[in-house]
Amino acid sequence: MRTALVIGNWKMNGTIAESRALASAVRDGLKRIRDVHVAVCPPFTALAAVAEVLGGGTIGLGAQTCHHEPSGPHTGEIAPPMLVELGCRFVLVGHSERRKEMGETDEQINSKVHAVLAHGMTPVLCLGETGEERRQGLTFTTVEGQLRAGVAGLNPDDIARCVLAYEPVWAIGTGVNATPGQAAEIHGYLRGLVSEVASKEIAQAVRILYGGSVKSDNAEALFAEADIDGGLIGGASLKATEFVAIVKKGAATGVAPKGGS
Ligand code: PEP
Repeated sequence: MRTALVIGNWKMNGTIAESRALASAVRDGLKRIRDVHVAVCPPFTALAAVAEVLGGGTIGLGAQTCHHEPSGPHTGEIAPPMLVELGCRFVLVGHSERRKEMGETDEQINSKVHAVLAHGMTPVLCLGETGEERRQGLTFTTVEGQLRAGVAGLNPDDIARCVLAYEPVWAIGTGVNATPGQAAEIHGYLRGLVSEVASKEIAQAVRILYGGSVKSDNAEALFAEADIDGGLIGGASLKATEFVAIVKKGAATGVAPKGGS
C-alpha cells in the first residue's frame, strides 16, 4: 500500500507574514483530510514561522535543499541538523532549478541524500530530463543516470526511506504538464530501476511523485496512474485553494487503486 503524498514547493516566494498566511489557509483547508500525506517546503526564512502554524500536526514541513555537511565553513549554507531543529521531515534534493542555476552535480546530490537520511529526514530526490534530452530520445538514459547516481552507496533500507520525484524540466513552471501516459511510462521505468538497485518489495513501497505544472484540473488524471503516488507542486502550491484541491485529488486516488500494486 502506498499512501499518496503531495508536497508544495514554495520556491523563493513569500515573506514570513505571507508564508504564515498561506500555511494557515492550507492547514485550515485540510483539517479533516485523510488517506493522503501532505508537506510544504517554504523558503528557509519562513520555516520557523510555518512550523509554528502547522503545530506539529499532520502537514509535514520540508526544506528546499541543504548542505551535506553537518556544520562548517560553508558561508550561506544550511546544514541538516538546523533543519531537524526546525521540525523538517523532508528535504528536496536535486531540484532541476538547483541543478541548472547552482550547477549541482549528481555527486553533490548523492552526498545530500546521504546527509538527509543520516539526520533522520526524508530526501525527495528530484529527477527529470530537459526538453532537448526528450527530443533526442535521452529521457530514459537521463533519469536512469540521475537515479543511480542519486542513491549510490545507499543500502536497500535507506533507498526505502527515499521519495522520488519525476519532474521533467520542460514541464516545470511552463503550464505544459507531462500527459498521464508520458509520466506513467517514466514512473514505471523508475520503479523497475528501484527494483534493481534495492529490491522488488522496496520498489513497490517507494513513492514516486510527479512534478511539473500540476494543477487542480489535471491532478486527478495524473494521480490515477498506478505508478504515480502524488505530486510535487510548485506554482499551484502558492494558492491555498488550489493546493488544497490538488491534495484532495491525491486523497481520492491515493490508496485504493494502488493497493498491492
Ligand atoms: C517544481 O518546481 O517542483 C514544480 C513542479 O513546479 P511547477 O508545479 O510550478 O511546475
